[in-house]
Formats: sequence, structure tokens, C-alpha cells
Amino acid sequence: MFEQVKAIPGDALLALMVAFKNDPNPNKIDLGVGVYKDDTGNTPILKVVKQAESYLLAHELSKGYIGATGSPELAPLLQKLMLGENHPLIGSGRIATAQTPGGTGALRVAGDLINAVKPEAKIWVSDPTWSNHFHVFAGSGVEVRTYPYYDAQRNALAIDQMLACITQMTAGDVILLHASCHNPTGIDPSFSQWQQISKAVAERGVVPLIDCAYQGFGEGLEEDVQGLRLLVEQCPEALITTSCSKNFGLYNERVGALSVITETSEANQKTMSQVANCIRANYSNPPAHGAAIVCTILSDNTLRQQWEAELAEMRDRIRLMRTTLVKHLKEINCSRDFSFIAEQKGMFSYSGLSKEEVLFLREQHGIYAVDTGRINVAGINANNIERLGFAINQAIQ
Ligand code: PMP
Repeated sequence: MFEQVKAIPGDALLALMVAFKNDPNPNKIDLGVGVYKDDTGNTPILKVVKQAESYLLAHELSKGYIGATGSPELAPLLQKLMLGENHPLIGSGRIATAQTPGGTGALRVAGDLINAVKPEAKIWVSDPTWSNHFHVFAGSGVEVRTYPYYDAQRNALAIDQMLACITQMTAGDVILLHASCHNPTGIDPSFSQWQQISKAVAERGVVPLIDCAYQGFGEGLEEDVQGLRLLVEQCPEALITTSCSKNFGLYNERVGALSVITETSEANQKTMSQVANCIRANYSNPPAHGAAIVCTILSDNTLRQQWEAELAEMRDRIRLMRTTLVKHLKEINCSRDFSFIAEQKGMFSYSGLSKEEVLFLREQHGIYAVDTGRINVAGINANNIERLGFAINQAIQ
């Protein structure tokens, strides 16, 4: 069976991680992989997570299966986090949430659901987008198309082209929108642009699939879901995929969820039976531990406040690194204007650096960024920022 198998190229980002690991340069800088790092370059376990884990260690009573759609406590907690405490959808029977293994698991179940209930629907993703969107939906057998998103000339959102494309989509198609902290560009729509986008999506009868992987990493827990809230207000149907990997620092625990919003509660029950069927065929039921941590934190006032404080600390550090890098590049009279980096949201930034400039950084300075020019701003710290500024200034000469 395996003797004739052809190898396929590995993931470019994973290859970059390996190259970074093998680089003996003591001053190397990792701006590649998309995980948060603190000022010492560590991806920390949040203190509040440790507290919730010690509580669970003492109180957990069973390791029995938790069922295809996962923890029933998680669903209302995540709905409230995304939609707001008293949102009319909650408890209306029009929204249901299934726990999944991470945001990726949620996206895969969403793809499988679309393929099961409307196989002719296409999923439109932004150009560019997180590259795994293509793999995941291909795995589900759904056709993927792209809509314009990034204006390279202005380092800004290509709003006019994006809106024009939405008006051309077939009613009943699905449009994937990043709730905040767009991966890979770091460019999010402003509130007025979200108003235009949600209006266009609703008018066209396209179903929004909102990928909410960075709530709290951009501007704040509320601000980062302003587009999501407009979309669910204006569209009768929507899908939301949530990831708790970044905002709880629970990357390897695989906590996420798929929320399905339907026009009627009858349709919701039927659709959730399809969701449960997709889950059973994929992995039967999700892992319990990470979701139990999230539930413990979100359902306890003290732990929740502590979580919000630790989340704000991560967000503020990322924003500080953005503004400090821009300031430093100005101070050393860098010939290119990088001020847009301070405006972008979340961990990622399309830096505008060309593939050649990225290669120069890697080969001459041991600085690892993605070939597209995407940098993970969380890889910058007080210790390496001046070296990075110096190297960028050299790369663009
Ligand atoms: N969506 C986007 C836009 C992401 O960037 C990521 C993670 N890189 C995910 C979903 C998936 O997150 P998870 O690790 O929870 O599967």
C-alpha cells in the first residue's frame, strides 16, 4: 500500500519552525509561528488556568464521555461572551453551540455540515486568509472561492472590491469573515465598514461563517465582536466558529465551539442533529479537560476578572510592541513608512516586507518571518526590538 506513495510538501510554517529551531544563532528571533509570547519569549500558561485546573483536580468526578456536542455548560457561556449577556438570541431556541476540538475542529464540522445540508454552496474566504481554511474545507468537500480583502498599495482593507464581490455571490453561499485580528494581515474592518459588510451580506442572502479565534486580542472583549454582533443581528442564519486557544492560552487542550443560528427553533433542532452526526463521524466526542477549564473560569466572577486582566496584559503587550517598533524605525530614520503596523490588530501583521527582504532577514540576521511578509508581533520583545529594527532597516536598503 505504501511503497508507491509520493510525499507531499509539508506545511511551510512548520518548516520555518524547524529551521528556526536548528539555527545556532543565539540572537535569532522567531516571528513565524502564531502563538502568543511574553516579554521573555515564552508562551505562558495563564495563572487563572492553573487555578481552574487545581479546582478541577480536586472536584472532577468522572472521565466519562461528554457526548458529541460536548459540555452543556460551555454553550451558554460562550454565547454570552460573544453576543453579550442579555442577547435575545440566547435561550430563544434559534442558537445552539457544540463544543469542538479547537477552532479548527469547529471549522471542519461547519464544512461537513454545509456539505451535508447544501452541497452546492460555496464558501468564500478572504484573499489572503489563514491557509488552513483551504485544507479544512477541501477535507469537507466544499468548493472554496476567495473575495478581495487586502489592498497592498495602501496596506489597508480593499473595502470597495470586497463589497462588490459580495453582491456577486450566489444567495445561499457562505462567506467566512474573521471576527477580529485578521490572520494573516492584522487588518480589521472599522465599525462603519462592518456596517457596510453586514448590510451587503444580509441583502445578498449569503450566510456568514464568523471565525472568532482572537476575541480579546485586538481592542477588547466587546470591541472584537462588534462585526459579529452586527452580522447576527442582520442575517437570519449564521455560523460561528470559536477558538479558545489564544485568549485562554489553551492551544494544546483543543477547546473551541461551533454555534449555529437558524431562523426558527425547529430548524435549529434539525440542524443540530446533522451537526451531531458530522461530529460522530469525525471524532465521536470532543476532549473534556480544556472546556472544563474555560467553564470554570467563565462561571466564577473572581476567576473571570482575573482572566480578563491576564488577557488585557497579553493584548497590551502586543499593542506596545507595535507602537514601539514603529517609533524605533522612525528614530533610526528608516526610509520606509511602517506606521500602519501600529494600526493593525492582534498578533499578526502584514509588514509589507517582500519575499527577498524576508529572506535577507532570515539569512543575515536569523530573523524568521513568513515569506508573505507576515510577522507575529508577539515574537517581539524589549530584548530584541532594536536588533529587529536595525535588521529591517538594512533589509529594505
Ligand atoms: N481561525 C483562525 C483565523 C486562526 O488563526 C486559527 C489558529 N491559528 C484558528 C482558526 C484555529 O485555532 P485552533 O488552534 O483553536 O484550532
